[in-house]
Amino acid sequence: MSKRITTDISEAARLLIDGQLVAFPTETVYGLGADALNLSAVKRVYEAKSRPFGHPLIIHVGNSELIDEFATDIPDSARSLVARFWPGPLTLVLNASDKVPTIVTGGQETVAIRFPAHPMAIALLREFGGGIVGPSANKFGQLSPTKAADVDRDFGPEVSLILDGATCTVGIESTIIGFDGEFPVLLRPGMITKNAISMEISKEVLDAGPMSPRVSGSLPSHYAPITNLILLEAIDIPRYLKSSAALRDVALLTFEPILEAHPSISKIIIAPKEPNDYAKNLYQRLRELDRVGANLIIVETIPSADSWDGIRDRLDRAAH
Ligand code: AMP
Ligand code: MG
Repeated sequence: MSKRITTDISEAARLLIDGQLVAFPTETVYGLGADALNLSAVKRVYEAKSRPFGHPLIIHVGNSELIDEFATDIPDSARSLVARFWPGPLTLVLNASDKVPTIVTGGQETVAIRFPAHPMAIALLREFGGGIVGPSANKFGQLSPTKAADVDRDFGPEVSLILDGATCTVGIESTIIGFDGEFPVLLRPGMITKNAISMEISKEVLDAGPMSPRVSGSLPSHYAPITNLILLEAIDIPRYLKSSAALRDVALLTFEPILEAHPSISKIIIAPKEPNDYAKNLYQRLRELDRVGANLIIVETIPSADSWDGIRDRLDRAAH
């Protein structure tokens, strides 16, 4: 194992204060951390990820009060969501305070803020004392990392240290909510559902329109494995395999075993039927399927219930 993978939180906080990049675990995915107020460190986060500067970063905080340092004109409904869901996999997009550097917001007037629930992230944020930008610790557009080893594979010495907090328990990126007055607007679905948000504040959750702020996870192709991926209904999979004569080396993610053996199948992973379990393992499974060296990954379509919305969004983008 690489020497820079460690559980030394004090060392990680020291490196962040020194302007270096540190990857850290959150309950969603691993983040590539830098001091949110250090312009050159934040610039190196974009460079390390090959992320275009127009795609803003989430500021992670270690207590809910810091929201008032980085945001202004905070709607009451945002405060209610903070009280109910923080720490947790919910990011709020709010009006940015003067303190927030333009490089963090991608030049927009809003800032994205989250208080993550992973104990190691909280300990790091508290020892560091301020806000830490933490986009997913992967190259732009690829699968997000849910283990320290995933991060280690993607980055060279530009990342000084990787905190090892085991496998992420949520497994996909946070739900992102913006506001239109007091009304919540869904900018990116995640495992905190629209319904849960709506229930908490007794307000309808609006869908993001074309005027919404840019969310990089909203590009049509994102969160994607290298192998071509398609989504098919279970009933269509055997037919598809049969009809595509030239098909070789197919890797599958399905809810049930495919009964009829087919010579072109090189790997099948059986997925859990409960959405939290599915999300937790999704990126590890896609990485496994990617590593088979197949020509095509086929993923069985998932249920239509809103508890699957975040997962469906990631699969749709992986399929582009
Ligand atoms: P990641 O941390 O890689 O999941 O990416 C952070 C997500 O938050 C991206 O999709 C960003 O575009 C989004 N984001 C960050 N800041 C803002 C903002 N001010 N307005 C809208 N979306 C944002
Ligand atoms: Mg990302």
